Amino acid sequence: MTIVGIVGLGLIGGSLALDLRSQGYRVLGVSRKPQTCQTALLKHVTDEASTDLALLGKADVIFICTPIPAIAPTVRALVPHLSSAAVITDVGSVKAPIVEEITPLWENFIGGHPMAGTEAQGINAAQRDLFVGAPYVLTPVENTPARAIAVLEELVGAIGAKLYSCSPQQHDRAVAWISHLPLLVSAGLIDSCLGEEDGEVLKLARCFASSGFRDTSRVGGGNPELGLEIARANREEILRSLARYRQHLEGLFEVIEKEDWQNLEMILQQTESGRKTFGNWSRQKP
Ligand code: NAP
Repeated sequence: MTIVGIVGLGLIGGSLALDLRSQGYRVLGVSRKPQTCQTALLKHVTDEASTDLALLGKADVIFICTPIPAIAPTVRALVPHLSSAAVITDVGSVKAPIVEEITPLWENFIGGHPMAGTEAQGINAAQRDLFVGAPYVLTPVENTPARAIAVLEELVGAIGAKLYSCSPQQHDRAVAWISHLPLLVSAGLIDSCLGEEDGEVLKLARCFASSGFRDTSRVGGGNPELGLEIARANREEILRSLARYRQHLEGLFEVIEKEDWQNLEMILQQTESGRKTFGNWSRQKP
């Protein structure tokens, strides 16, 4: 039986543990706080849990699910405990700098990124079936062993996710558009609303906020640490997408200022049909 190790029992690590356990894998968890390990055992998230990385000495595959800055240091600390056949992967939201740092440390490493999440964090946010139907991107490089790829393909299939493969650089550029830019735009939206100078109007806006604001503010209202880590790790691609967005925003401003309604209608028609080309969800009937 494949033994899976998970370091970082939070939203993503805990959710992976729940799903892999339910598929019959033995799951060993390591987290920073003893309290988190106790919760993991109490809630049957993992079979065993410890704050000591030595627990993972018997694992065949290890998912590093810590915050981004802790991923490479965790691999460094883990290496002395592992057999050389063990496969390591990570779930970090940015891939190029992580893959670049870890590849020379461990031959059987493959970067990965499950494209699913919620605005919550920590072990208590872990949930079953978080990854069902969601994209799971693997980012092998030239020397990634075929066996490491095959092992991850099997596990991604077991949690019901949809497998994709691309280079770490392609991943970072693509997710800047569909994940990192939306996060910052959404944060900017919340911040702009909070800047309303008339207190009465702000109070009303808070009361009137419904599904539209809930949807557009969701990703900007999530874990601030994660947003910061992502911005630092994918700075170049985020700046590229933000510059393009600023250009479009200025275009929209100008169109409305000039009352160029025909042009605005054309833009909105393009975005209506363009949105349908992204993701499976947008092509599904409600
Ligand atoms: P999270 O809920 O905060 O979980 C991270 C967990 O890692 C924490 O609960 C913490 O557990 C543990 N931890 C922190 N530092 C550690 C260390 N040095 N050693 C061992 N454990 C440590 O965050 P998350 O949302 O699951 O994100 C984890 C990773 O998934 C990040 O790399 C992120 O980029 C990636 N990711 C996130 C999402 C998302 O939407 N949230 C989606 C895809 C990928 P303790 O309680 O023990 O401190």
